[in-house]
Amino acid sequence: MKIPFNKTYTTGQEIVNISKAIANGKLAGDGEFTFAVQQMMESRFGMDKTLLTTSCTDALEMCAILAGVDSDSEVIMPSYTFVSTANAFALRGAKIVFVDSEENTPNLDADKLEALITPKTKVIVVMHYAGIACDMDKIEVIAKKHNLVIVEDAAQAIDSYYKDRPLGSIGQLGAFSFHETKNIISGEGGMICINDVKYQKRAEIIREKGTNRAQFFRGEIDKYGWVDIGSSFLASEIIAAFLKAQLDEMENIQKKRIALWNIYYDKLKNLLVKHPNLLPRIPSYATNNAHMFYLTCNSHDERTKLMAKLNEYGVKSTFHYLSLHSSSFYAHKHDGRELPQSDKWTDCLLRLPMFVDLRFEDVDYICKVITDFYND
Ligand SMILES: *Cc1c(COP(=O)(O)O)cnc(C)c1O
Repeated sequence: MKIPFNKTYTTGQEIVNISKAIANGKLAGDGEFTFAVQQMMESRFGMDKTLLTTSCTDALEMCAILAGVDSDSEVIMPSYTFVSTANAFALRGAKIVFVDSEENTPNLDADKLEALITPKTKVIVVMHYAGIACDMDKIEVIAKKHNLVIVEDAAQAIDSYYKDRPLGSIGQLGAFSFHETKNIISGEGGMICINDVKYQKRAEIIREKGTNRAQFFRGEIDKYGWVDIGSSFLASEIIAAFLKAQLDEMENIQKKRIALWNIYYDKLKNLLVKHPNLLPRIPSYATNNAHMFYLTCNSHDERTKLMAKLNEYGVKSTFHYLSLHSSSFYAHKHDGRELPQSDKWTDCLLRLPMFVDLRFEDVDYICKVITDFYND
């Protein structure tokens, strides 16, 4: 038995759409497929305006520019996150202030936010780990009180909700990823959600190399030129064509992932008696988009042994982030506060295989290996 950690899923329609894009003779960005995927996301999740980008990393870099972050700014975010969350703001010269994770989820601990705010703080970046929402009501109250922008790193959070609000639509700005490791993919790809109208015009300009080309193409102006900073953040029609096939199948993709997730939980829940922290916790305000199924081992050593055992039985599992406050790039810039929960997730979290073509019997098999490990 060999079960990989991830396997890309394609619907079969991607190549048909790409052929159409080629036949259209327009392969640069902002063609028919780009508008279609933006429209689909906006109508399904209620975002006011979205723009397709080449990656979530790009979308986050756009967020940093739009939020007006500069070398005099401080930006608060979890340490337990992907490099791009921080890098987007480090590129603007900002000081990154890391907040610890919750004890029960890897998400940032909203109760620890306010103590970190200074007159220089401009942005709170939330990252919805495994597609499970952060405690947004609490975070919004703090952001409003201190006049801060909320940016959602919703890379993992497509089709997931905080109460009845879709993730990515809550902060003034949000970012999705369509990297091949996410639920809905285009190889590389991302999307910025501009939920506050005041950023909309500038977002188009930043995405088009600092030019007002988008307005020009709409016929709103008669020539376009350099009006702001920016970069080439827009994705090609080939990416958009691929992505549309995936978005068309989103319901089925999500159904299968959620079914797999539920089998994992059901088969492992007996272990909670002896290991109460082993399985993921979904707060009552959050939905589950089954982006990931992870375990929280009791120690780093236990995780290493469990990974080895799974590997021995042909199952690829993998740990996740290394806390950014301890990274070689940022450790000496970090203010020295200990972030014990972030370290715990770094040491103890283990991700299990999760992909559309994973079979229910594969999950049974994986759960048996894990159950034997804990019962031996
Ligand atoms: C995947 C991911 C990203 C980066 O997405 P790309 O599309 O690969 O740039 C950023 N943040 C988080 C939390 C992610 O999981």
